[in-house]
Amino acid sequence: MSKRLVLASNNAKKTTEMQALLAPLGIEVIPQSALGVGEAEEPHPTFVENALAKARHAAAATGLPAVADDSGLCVAALGGAPGVLSARFAGEPKSDARNNALLLEKLAHLTGAEARRAHFYSTVVLVRHADDPQPLIADGEWHGTILEAARGEGGFGYDPLFWLPELERSAAELDAGLKNTLSHRGAAMRHLLARLERNPL
Ligand code: IMP
Repeated sequence: MSKRLVLASNNAKKTTEMQALLAPLGIEVIPQSALGVGEAEEPHPTFVENALAKARHAAAATGLPAVADDSGLCVAALGGAPGVLSARFAGEPKSDARNNALLLEKLAHLTGAEARRAHFYSTVVLVRHADDPQPLIADGEWHGTILEAARGEGGFGYDPLFWLPELERSAAELDAGLKNTLSHRGAAMRHLLARLERNPL
């Protein structure tokens, strides 16, 4: 029987990205929603703590190994905000459109790439079971600037506002494969896969 791993996210776009990134493992990757697992609480001030909470929650609910990502956008001019609160920057219910509108509003007085610089950050955590004393942990960053108006239709979240000066495109203007090659989540997942090769499930 092939090995199974639960993907501890209920964000459909993020799940698609992570399934593509986990494909080289050759194991069955099951989104937690397919197993009836609901969203975990994410009460912590750091990405790594929230990723661990999500992975543990999914492993406890399913009895399977679980992998989770906790990620967000950190804007220099906002002291690193929205950070761990990225998904709910504009409050409940979660809305990418309202989050992006709020970000534009908060940066409206700033012009130029230096003043509007930001990065995405992702921590990924894999636990073999809910009480795993040695979770596999990896992270990644992706640097760019915040546009003054949205560009592109792809991706999710803040992608339409995240400008990549060297590519002269927003993250929402990249195809999914290129985004995974360059992104914070892609980098974190590649580090995780390298660690998994040395510590197989
Ligand atoms: P999480 O699901 O609690 O980790 O929330 C992550 C939030 O950070 C998302 O809802 C987005 O707002 C933002 N985010 C994380 N990664 C990306 C990305 O690749 N593109 C755009 N926004 C992202």
